[in-house]
Amino acid sequence: MKPDQPPPPPRPAKAGEPAAADSRAAANFLRGIIERDLAAGTYDHRPFAGSPGDAAHHAQGAPDPARIRTRFPPEPNGYLHVGHAKSVCLNFGLARDYGGICHLRFDDTNPEKEEQEYVDAIIEAVRWLGYDWEVQGTSHLYYASNYFDFMYRAAEALVGAGLAYVDEQSAEQMRASRGDFTTPGTPSPFRERTPQENLARLREMRDGRHADGAMVLRAKIDMASPNINLRDPTLYRIRRATHHNTGDKWCIYPMYTYAHPIEDALERITHSICTLEFEDQRPFYDWLLEHLADLGLLARPLPKQYEFGRLNLSYVITSKRKLRALVEEKIVDGWDDPRMPTLFGMRRRGYTPESIRAMADGTGASKTNIWLDYAVLDGCLRADLEGRAPRAMAVLDPLPLVLTNWAEVFGGAAHVEPCQAPVHPQRPELGTRQFGLGPEVWIERDDFAEVPPKGFFRLFPPRVLPDGSTVPGNRVRLKYGVVIECTGCEKDAGGRVTRVRATVVPGTRSGTPGADAVKVKGTITWVARHDAVPARLNLYDRLFSQAQPEAGGRDFREALNPASLVVAQGWLEPGLAGAGREERFQFERHGYFVADRVLHRAGAPVFNRITTLKDGWAPG
Ligand code: ATP
Ligand code: MG
Repeated sequence: MKPDQPPPPPRPAKAGEPAAADSRAAANFLRGIIERDLAAGTYDHRPFAGSPGDAAHHAQGAPDPARIRTRFPPEPNGYLHVGHAKSVCLNFGLARDYGGICHLRFDDTNPEKEEQEYVDAIIEAVRWLGYDWEVQGTSHLYYASNYFDFMYRAAEALVGAGLAYVDEQSAEQMRASRGDFTTPGTPSPFRERTPQENLARLREMRDGRHADGAMVLRAKIDMASPNINLRDPTLYRIRRATHHNTGDKWCIYPMYTYAHPIEDALERITHSICTLEFEDQRPFYDWLLEHLADLGLLARPLPKQYEFGRLNLSYVITSKRKLRALVEEKIVDGWDDPRMPTLFGMRRRGYTPESIRAMADGTGASKTNIWLDYAVLDGCLRADLEGRAPRAMAVLDPLPLVLTNWAEVFGGAAHVEPCQAPVHPQRPELGTRQFGLGPEVWIERDDFAEVPPKGFFRLFPPRVLPDGSTVPGNRVRLKYGVVIECTGCEKDAGGRVTRVRATVVPGTRSGTPGADAVKVKGTITWVARHDAVPARLNLYDRLFSQAQPEAGGRDFREALNPASLVVAQGWLEPGLAGAGREERFQFERHGYFVADRVLHRAGAPVFNRITTLKDGWAPG
């Protein structure tokens, strides 16, 4: 695993918000379990043969250099989202912190929904998050479908031991005879077949002698168990489908609940961490592995399953089906739309891997599903970028400003006054940025008010009060430039301000002696017309306007935020002309922006707003 920088400390939590601390500080019951296992030596001297395999394979191995093994086991049937990031960070993070190894395993046992495209996308996303499965030249990237041979062998062994049988009831009959929470199930008429009969049938299933759905292999456990998952769960089904890895080799496929424990055991996983909905599956997980170990097929000590609560983010949905609907109904512009909670979407939006890791680690692991306020993620992003993002000036909603005495003050209309600003105000070692001030500049439209509201310290023109007295035009500093005094404005026929006029107050250039003698209450950002770079600015906001978009059974389409994307045509300071894709900046006063990793080009910049400087979101 890559030596990982610890995530930066996120900003302090607000009241009512889970503290985002580092992974060690956040409450995480899994750490307690692992620490107890390490202290007890539960997994000491356990051989590992260097690759996954059965008991005989591992018996030839040397003691496992990994103190624990965890795994992240995605099904390659879609793109990873922020919820998966939680699981990635948890599994890779625990392995890193306890001298272990985390496997990336594709749980590709279902032939119908899985595709190579998703495999590639998942690999890229996990790498981007900052994790690696290569340890001393060995790649711990595995595919569950490579274990089909073993899974089938294990099925025959269970049949031979009288622990599994072929059931020819219809799906309908099986459902009906399973019972429910109050009624025990009734045994299948096929339950008492001999192992020989069952073995013959299982081989016929494998050899394609029966139609899809004609029969299944079931474990023989207890039809009266209070845990319905133990009422003879299905292990194998017949399904003629081409698998992305094994092609047409198999026409029977293992069920997830059968395959997953075996995958863990073959890989010698010690702590198999999954989400809460699998809690009721744990007794079967243990039943299966114990029997296969007793039969000599799997090595002990066996993996143990632990369940933790899912991470849900407010203002976000993560169901793959619904994310697909957003894409297919063109509500968003694809899986990597910067408003999507997929890792590709979040990356394109500009979230850093560090900020996602800090959010995930800051939530620890608990026994209940949690809803995390989206503001926590933005807080982690700001905490990460505050100290390292270069600063820049940008005008998002441009209004021209003309300095009418420029030629007199500077001896010519063409004069350009050189200005400089720190790349980062607290990090002088990063140097300075250079740009020029000329007689015409772009300012933000809302930095001017013809009639200033109370407490407005930015530009407003002189005006005559009802008592006949005159209030002079206001003075502000053009940041890193000069102090100016507003003298008036021009408007179009509709009354919309088209240009602001002001004069330069001589001797006030920032960084020159006496520049601060003229005191002003307001400082505004700007870019000069002669060297400004035009840019498309995608002002993204939350995709949903409701914290829980589906609360009360609402269709998520009704909770869409109509202003989740506002496209602005703005101006950037000249240094940004050379920005590369995925470079992040703090646009002073506006927030954090990233050069779009798909559309941005030198000469045609496209920047996405990641988040504003402060959390100004009021639920709509
Ligand atoms: P689906 O949404 O289709 O049911 P899934 O989200 O469970 O699928 P998997 O590919 O099976 O998708 O997930 C891989 C791992 O990520 C699993 O171990 C799963 O428990 C975990 N995971 C998925 N969503 C979350 C979440 N919101 N919080 C924490 N872990 C999650
Ligand atoms: Mg799943």
